[in-house]
Order: sequence, then structure tokens, then C-alpha cells
Amino acid sequence: MKREGSLHTVFEETLGAVDRISRTPRGTLRAEEYGEVTSVGHGVARVRGLPGVRSEELVRFPNDLLGMAFNLEPEEVGVILLDEGPGLAAGATARRTNRVLDVPVGEGLLGRVVDPAGRPLDNAGRIRSAARAIIESPAPAIIDRAPVTVPLSTGIKVVDALIPIGRGQRELILGDRQTGKTGLVVDCMINQKGKHMICIYCAIGQRSSSVAKVIADLREHDATSYCIVVFAPGDAPPGQLFIAPYAAMAMGEYFMRKGLDALVVFDDLSQHARAYRELSLLLRRPPGRESFPGDIFYIHSRLLERSTHFRPELGGGSLSALPIIETEEQNLAAYIPTNLISITDGQIYLTPTLFQKGVLPAVDVGTSVSRVGGKTQLPAYRAVAADLKLSYSQFEELEVFSRFGTRIDEHTRRTLARGRAVREALKQPLYDPLPAAEQIAILLAATSGLFDDLPPEKVAAFSGGIRRLLPVEMPGIYDLVDSGKDLDAASREALIAVARKALNGEWKPLKP
Ligand code: ATP
Ligand code: MG
Repeated sequence: MKREGSLHTVFEETLGAVDRISRTPRGTLRAEEYGEVTSVGHGVARVRGLPGVRSEELVRFPNDLLGMAFNLEPEEVGVILLDEGPGLAAGATARRTNRVLDVPVGEGLLGRVVDPAGRPLDNAGRIRSAARAIIESPAPAIIDRAPVTVPLSTGIKVVDALIPIGRGQRELILGDRQTGKTGLVVDCMINQKGKHMICIYCAIGQRSSSVAKVIADLREHDATSYCIVVFAPGDAPPGQLFIAPYAAMAMGEYFMRKGLDALVVFDDLSQHARAYRELSLLLRRPPGRESFPGDIFYIHSRLLERSTHFRPELGGGSLSALPIIETEEQNLAAYIPTNLISITDGQIYLTPTLFQKGVLPAVDVGTSVSRVGGKTQLPAYRAVAADLKLSYSQFEELEVFSRFGTRIDEHTRRTLARGRAVREALKQPLYDPLPAAEQIAILLAATSGLFDDLPPEKVAAFSGGIRRLLPVEMPGIYDLVDSGKDLDAASREALIAVARKALNGEWKPLKP
């Protein structure tokens, strides 16, 4: 049986290719094609027939189960399954739909939890949305893009001060398992409250319990009204895991094209790559490095290229992306991490070493970088962050050296004390994002040496004191910093005075 040939012969030769002749509303005849499933297994079905099916076309099985035509071979079609269920077995009928997968998009999704095909998972009724978008769309042309100029504030001191991210940027978050990757992005999503940013959390291959926790955390911090959760569980067919990030991107693009700002988080793309590898191997595509198919770079780059910042004439919307990658044994040079590092505009690296030492968030400042966000950082940060990254990295090296028991001079001792104070000041618990002004006040106190002689465990308490005094002593500083003004000498002095007041205990600790 051949798939080539004239339409007529294809119909004749192919097993029952024309299923039925139906009438369209305008009264013309329409032929529908169907095929027969020859085998089903591990999320892939092989179908004989469907002579005219196109790549990535949706295929419908009995009980409205969906699949996506992926491998078009002369003898059969390899279909990746988006659903599994009874009725899907050898001998079942597969019908063409003449369309590619699309998902509902729009404001109706806010506050909802959906699967990668946009079907609700949260018992809150059907999705009210008038618009739908195809999950794959070409990346915006270079000419339509504007430079990244507006900060995407995460509320996390170490990120906003040292590795600033901009709206429209793609920043990779990578680290071994259990290093706080999910915590960091959820923190960032919580911090977007009141900042006119729509957040889409795309969970790929996660356990339901972890995603339930993220949703509960978002709910607890009153963040669901501007968030969408797209969830492809680990036990779903790999096809769902594969399409999930594209669907989430399509939902984000809707807002970007309307001129709004959106953020998509992919937690995580390692699972996505694994699902794609599984599908490719099942479809007998040739494996390459680490058994991943040759186009794995392409599937991730075409996904992340869709995130950008539009020119003002096109509405000026932006779509930022925070893909997460799980490394193994801190190996940044593995295939998928290096691919993603080269696709994105920077990375935040979380290490288990710092995590175990209790330096949380466990961001390795020396290995992390933001290639475009620096230009978007609020100018007031310059007062504290200008050379902080370099001096902090130097301190880390010096600290390793000083462990050998070498005798150190007074200057080195002070450098070490300052570095330790800054490290303490950069620590931050989960879900406690800080406004920029408070971050600057705390870091200014640390870099000016106010924390140098404090026992490390006291730094958090005094930072809390600064945070409580600041709105009382300098209520105007919040707007001054957010409006993009530089910190003048007077405000700088005033901030240090507030920090001194906090050190002198002129604040009341909150009752636990
Ligand atoms: P996984 O690899 O399982 O996805 P992960 O890297 O996403 O893990 P998280 O789940 O975010 O890591 O965090 C792991 C644990 O560390 C959680 O129990 C979380 O509460 C804790 N944790 C993360 N960040 C912080 C922080 N800044 N302060 C205190 N605890 C934290
Ligand atoms: Mg996680």
C-alpha cells in the first residue's frame, strides 16, 4: 500500500480511506478520511490509512481521544497520543480532523488550572474564552522586536541586585534536584502582584502533589487572579508533556500581542526533553548525543524564540520566559543544559553546596549571569550593586583560600567580614519578596559595613528592622526608586541613618 499517487488511486488502494461522504452546510460533498490503528503502546499509536494526513495534524480516536500525527511514513502514520483510555486499541478507527492543536486563550483562563490541550482540571466549570490559538506559532520577526528595557522584578535580593532580569528576557534557572528552583520561580510569580504581569506556570512531568503545593502557595499569597497553571502530570502520555510548553507559550502570546506583559515558567524542560526523547525513540527516529534526537536543540529554541518584547508600534507587550532545567551532579556541561544555556539570555545557577550550607536562595553568583537584564536594572541599585558581583565573587575565592589556615592580614580579614555580611544580607526565606527600596536599604547597610561586626545570625533580624523602619522614616523612597531615579547622596545618607537606627534597636520586633 502506497501513500503516493493520484487522489483517486489513493482512495482506491487505501483501506477504506473514504469513510463517509457527508454534506457540508452549503450542500457540497465532503470526503472524510479514516485509518485503522495497528498498534498502541507507550503513548504512541501506529495507524494505517489516513493518506492525506499532514504533519502535526490532530487525529481523533473513538471516545474523542486525541492524538497528533508525527511520523508520516509511506506505510503508516506514527501518532503521538494526547489521551489514553478505553477504546484506543489495535483495530480502532482514527479520523482526520484537518486542523492542528489549538488551545483556548484569554482572560477566561486566569485563575484556572488546565491540561496542555486547554481542558479544565480544576472543577471550576468550562473555560470561558472566545479566542483560541494554535499552539505552534512562528517567533516574532527581529524587526518587530524592541530591546528589553523594563525590569522584571523578582523580589529576590540576590537576583534583582546581581542578576537582574528584564521583561521579554529568557533566563534559564538550573540546578540539581531539590535546590529551590521551583521556590525561586513561584517567589517571582508572587512578587508580580499589582505589577500588571500575567504569569503562566507550566508544570511538565511533575508530581501532582508538588503542583498542588504550588497552587496552594499561589492561593495563599493571593496570586491566582493573574496566574494560569498548565499541568501535564508525570503519568500523562508523553505527548501531553511534549505539547505543554507550546500551549503555555500560546497562552502567553495572546497577552503579549494585546500589549500586556506576561511571564511563562517551564518547570521543567528536562522532563520535556525526556518526553520528546521517549517519543522519538518509540517512533524509531535516529538517536544522537545522550540518545536525544538530533532536533532537540531546535524544539527548545523554537519554543523560547517566541518570547520577546514588541516594539511600541505593535503594542509594546512582552513575554518573558523562565525555563527550568534540572542538572545531574552539578554537571552544567551535559547536553540539554548547554543547549539551553546557549539559547537563553543568561542563567541562574542554584547549587546543592550552598543549599546545604543554608545559603538560601542557593544562587551561585559567580556562575550566574544575565546578558540583557543589566540595562534594565533600576538606577538606584547602582549605589549598591555596581561592583558587588565582582567583589562578592572575589570574596568567595578568598574564603576558600582562607580555609587552609593561612595567616591573613587585617585587610583580608575585613574583606572576608564584609563578604560574609553581604552573604547574610542576601539570604531570603521563601515567599517573602521585597520591594526594590527595601532591597537597596538592606544591601546598602551591608556594603557600607554596618553588618561587618554583627554575628551572622543577627543580620536577618536587623534587616527585618530596616524593613519595618523604612516605610515610617522614608515613605517617599519607594516611589523614588520605582520611578527610575538615581539615588542621590542625601537619600543614601538617609538610608544609612535608617539602618543605624535599626542597629540601635529602635524598632520593635514583631511577635512571632
Ligand atoms: P525539585 O528538583 O524536586 O523540583 P526544586 O529544585 O524545585 O526541587 P524546591 O522544591 O523549590 O526545589 O525546594 C526544595 C526545598 O527547599 C523545599 O522544601 C523548599 O521549601 C526549600 N526552599 C527552597 N528555597 C528556599 C528558601 N529560599 N528558603 C527556605 N527554604 C527554601
Ligand atoms: Mg521543582
